[in-house]
Amino acid sequence: MINHFYRPGSVDEALSLHSRGGVFLAGGTEINRGRKGDGSLPGIPDRGGEIDAIYLADLGLSGIRKEGGAFFIGACTSLQDIADSPELPAWIRTAAGFIPSRNIRNMATIGGNIGAGRWNSVILPGLLAAGGVLHMAGGKTLAPGSYLESPSEAGLILEIELPDFPGVCRTLKEARSHLAVPVVTAGVYLEIADGKVSKVRIGAGCGCTGSLPGRLTGLEDKLTGEPLPQREALINLIKNEVNPSSDPQGSAEYRKQVNGVKIADLLIECREALV
Ligand SMILES: Cc1cc2nc3c(=O)[nH]c(=O)nc-3n(C[C@H](O)[C@H](O)[C@H](O)COP(=O)(O)OP(=O)(O)OC[C@H]3O[C@@H](n4cnc5c(N)ncnc54)[C@H](O)[C@@H]3O)c2cc1C
Repeated sequence: MINHFYRPGSVDEALSLHSRGGVFLAGGTEINRGRKGDGSLPGIPDRGGEIDAIYLADLGLSGIRKEGGAFFIGACTSLQDIADSPELPAWIRTAAGFIPSRNIRNMATIGGNIGAGRWNSVILPGLLAAGGVLHMAGGKTLAPGSYLESPSEAGLILEIELPDFPGVCRTLKEARSHLAVPVVTAGVYLEIADGKVSKVRIGAGCGCTGSLPGRLTGLEDKLTGEPLPQREALINLIKNEVNPSSDPQGSAEYRKQVNGVKIADLLIECREALV
């Protein structure tokens, strides 16, 4: 239940309310999903289901701009605006479009998606792969992985930067249908020099790296400095790096196999886009 609903007119006011135990509310699609304020969301203190909501809509945090080759996306930009943006890189437009239903995407924001830290986000593995940077209130910058370790201490996300890198980034979601719970969510960034992998970042969700999306750094190390392995070898390497458990979507072995195949194909797709 929302005890108090605050509508601050400045970032400073929002931070002051947050320091008194308030909870940032952007689109509200996660907070209002029936688990509000019960401590099961990252960044929300456990207060028996009651929250003081700090609505972010009046802080001017929406919009997309380009500076040099980098893109800056305001934290309150809706997922639908991201999916519809003709200028943003395809990987993030695709990732935003994977959240089911236009109604949800019109309300849901990218800052809220990061703040929710869900295992089935496609935006988070994409940001981990693309080297995304979070610009926080107060002037600090954070990698998404650092933010996810301690969201309540990290504070308010103002903007998300997508740096201009020379390689190729792709995201994917594998599910039985658009509305179904996914078996794979992943993002891959690849650079090739002289036929060998010179830079690779792989982000994965769906329980592959624990309860939060994370990087497959062991796999990244194995791939760097070598030509990308043949598909079967690549699938086996990935299977050894992911740790999904059995769930209603399938056994752990099945989910390992699907993650191996889909992430391998994503890496191969990135390599083909580079030649
Ligand atoms: C039917 C349905 C299906 C969904 N499917 C998916 C899915 O497949 N994948 C997925 O990832 N999510 C899914 N969601 C959850 C949710 O819609 C998204 O994660 C959405 O992006 C959350 O954004 P929001 O603006 O609504 O966040 P809110 O609900 O407003 O906030 C979510 C969290 O982020 C924090 N927060 C919000 N803005 C900021 C900010 N600027 N700085 C710091 N913290 C902030 C809040 O305090 C809260 O902890 C689904 C939800 C529904 C209802």
